[in-house]
Amino acid sequence: MTMLDKITVLVAAYNEEASLPILHARLAEAIKNSDAEYEILYVDDGSTDKTWELLEQIAQSDSRVALVRLSRNFGKEAALTAGLDHAAADSKALIVLDADGQDPPELIPQFVAKWREGFDVVYGTRTEREGESWLKRITSTAFYRVINSLSNIHIPADTGDFRLISRNVLDALSQMGERQRFMKGLFAWVGYQQTALHYTRQARIAGATKFNYWRLWNLALEGITSFSTAPLRLATYVGLLAALFAFAYGIWIITKTMLWGDAVQGWPSMMTVILLLGGMQLMALGMVGEYLGRLYMETKQRPIYLVAKQFPSSANRHMIGRKASNPNGG
Ligand code: UDP
Ligand code: MG
Repeated sequence: MTMLDKITVLVAAYNEEASLPILHARLAEAIKNSDAEYEILYVDDGSTDKTWELLEQIAQSDSRVALVRLSRNFGKEAALTAGLDHAAADSKALIVLDADGQDPPELIPQFVAKWREGFDVVYGTRTEREGESWLKRITSTAFYRVINSLSNIHIPADTGDFRLISRNVLDALSQMGERQRFMKGLFAWVGYQQTALHYTRQARIAGATKFNYWRLWNLALEGITSFSTAPLRLATYVGLLAALFAFAYGIWIITKTMLWGDAVQGWPSMMTVILLLGGMQLMALGMVGEYLGRLYMETKQRPIYLVAKQFPSSANRHMIGRKASNPNGG
């Protein structure tokens, strides 16, 4: 018997009871006639619906399935991290897939083919986004512009977490002890041979997105602060400009007073300047605060996630989250 390559399919799911049975059936179909051995790893990100019970049923009927349940909802980035940490140690590659069917599992063979060509990261790039509003498209384009111009990594636009990563990249990711995990950025940061696979992003099978605009905004802030310190410098330049302007304006006021005397004037302009500068100062302070807050969270060294249950259970890994001092995942 020849040894087949083992590939892990990682699916993070949060309240996906309506989508999971359909997704699993599609997934099983997609890898049916494959020349690799698959492990399907579902991470239940603290779902409050029937997701976990469903996953247990799926695991009963399909021996390739492994499960991890987090102790509460930690968010997708943490759930993915948990999945990376719990992937089978002998997996040669790992594919990340959404639980809602937006990333079609039918593409898995194409990802694997690219990987076999020698690529370490094969990322899915959306050519179309079905079921997404124009506002989401515009804000998402703007986000990629900003983050790519501010940071020195390149995050390809229209790319989600749908991707295949090789063992090299998996090992590299497990060395990253940071608590604030912007996965798209981390995937790009590691480098190696990367290539895109274009696909049409489908609409959700069922349920609604968990990412409203507020959550997306926070994710964007996370991304920018994780990969760039440029905003911290902004205050320097804005302050410099304001000072230059103030200097020129000061000279003008002094000259004016000497030539024509000093009738009390200028309350509106004074208020404008005070309010403008006050606003700018608070904004700059807030920006510093964004970084300071993250620094604070990082220094606490809390685990990124906690595991409540696991299937099949493995005693040595039980209940362990990742710690920075133990970068290989406990
Ligand atoms: N997800 C998760 N934890 C969360 C939110 C979402 O594991 O706190 C999972 C969710 O179940 C899905 C994937 O992340 O498999 C993408 O979520 P969603 O479809 O809501 O985001 P969108 O596709 O709209 O960006
Ligand atoms: Mg989705």
